[in-house]
Amino acid sequence: MTGTAMRLDARMRDVIRQQVKRHGSFYLYDERRIHESVDCLASHFPQIDFLYSIKCNANPHVLRSIFARGLGADAASAAEVRMARAAGVPKDRILYSSPGKMRSDIARTIRQAVLVADSIEELRRIQNVAAEMNMPVAVGMRINPDFTFHGDGGLPSKFGIDEEQALAFLRGNDCPNIRVTGIHVHLRSQELQADVLAAYYRRMFRLAEKFSAVCGGLEYVNMGSGMGVRYAVQDTPLNLAALGAALREELRGFQTAHPRTACLIEVGRYAVCASGLYVASVVDRKISRGITYIILRNTLNGFLRPSLARLASRWSRGLPSAAEPLFTCVDACQFFTLDMDAPVERVTLAGDLCTTADIIAEDILLPHVECGDCVIMTNAGSYAAVLSPMQFSSHERPVEVFLSTDGTVLQTDLPCA
Ligand SMILES: *Cc1c(COP(=O)(O)O)cnc(C)c1O
Repeated sequence: MTGTAMRLDARMRDVIRQQVKRHGSFYLYDERRIHESVDCLASHFPQIDFLYSIKCNANPHVLRSIFARGLGADAASAAEVRMARAAGVPKDRILYSSPGKMRSDIARTIRQAVLVADSIEELRRIQNVAAEMNMPVAVGMRINPDFTFHGDGGLPSKFGIDEEQALAFLRGNDCPNIRVTGIHVHLRSQELQADVLAAYYRRMFRLAEKFSAVCGGLEYVNMGSGMGVRYAVQDTPLNLAALGAALREELRGFQTAHPRTACLIEVGRYAVCASGLYVASVVDRKISRGITYIILRNTLNGFLRPSLARLASRWSRGLPSAAEPLFTCVDACQFFTLDMDAPVERVTLAGDLCTTADIIAEDILLPHVECGDCVIMTNAGSYAAVLSPMQFSSHERPVEVFLSTDGTVLQTDLPCA
């Protein structure tokens, strides 16, 4: 059975019932769940400043809700810097970090955000823009450290500047307009083991010590993301309380030695993944040579991740490794219906695109659904709407529905090509 782990309260059920009459498919974000996740972080890590990674869900109501809770912004493009500014985030709480910033990206954001340089070339590009504007600029550096989540010894990476190269640059900084005031590291996503994350953060404090000594103090150390969420029913959730407790002393030690250095952690999925559902109407059903097919509105082209999970499970023998944020594991999404008491049948869930790749579940048990009913999918709050190829076949797009804590329902249309 697939839907048993889901808790869907009466509020959410009512909204789904109403919306399914209006929309062939839609996302539904529950502000209450977003607040629960964000408040949980704040309570276990009172000394950490959290940034929200906009790229995982840029819905304007989601942004407003999260930034109103006091999080800063992790922006991955000039457009995301603009969104964070529009949502009221102050300039010094927006860190713009991504590989391959163009000169125009830098010029557009240099007064709107804190830039984090991803390469030595980019440092020089920032220097040129700052010199033309005749301004000094405080920047961060994204570092590719000499360690991983699992131990010492660094790996090659397209992200950041190798630690040794960054230190060499700083010792002979020949960019007169640039002062490096922070470092940023992000090595991986979706870690569920508290002890692995704790060991990583400890290495980060050592790294910050090293850079602090060379820079003459740091304003921030951004330790990136890593906090994972429970996708599959059998996943053991990350123990945030244990992680917070494991870090408390270490963090206090670091902050006593460096009282002016803010410790930042970025979260994307942790803040929003579980808050989102994807709802697709049943548009047809048929039996073909013994298989019951349920045809749903906008699956691959509305919520891509379940289709990719199906593909990965077909292509690989054994368990495929993750490819975040496209693919986490084969059962990262649960399927259920509004009437879980209907008689159960064995079905294959497919979409309405003209491709056989558009299948999201094969041979699963699901309560009986008819045309006009819907199938509800979990874990659709992050890397969902933003990641799905909605232009494919030019179907009408899913809309995004946001259920506020006060019960207000706000609708957003996804951008049209
Ligand atoms: C995507 C990204 C994140 C968010 O990752 P999650 O696993 O969703 O928390 C954080 N930091 C950086 C630099 C990223 O690229």
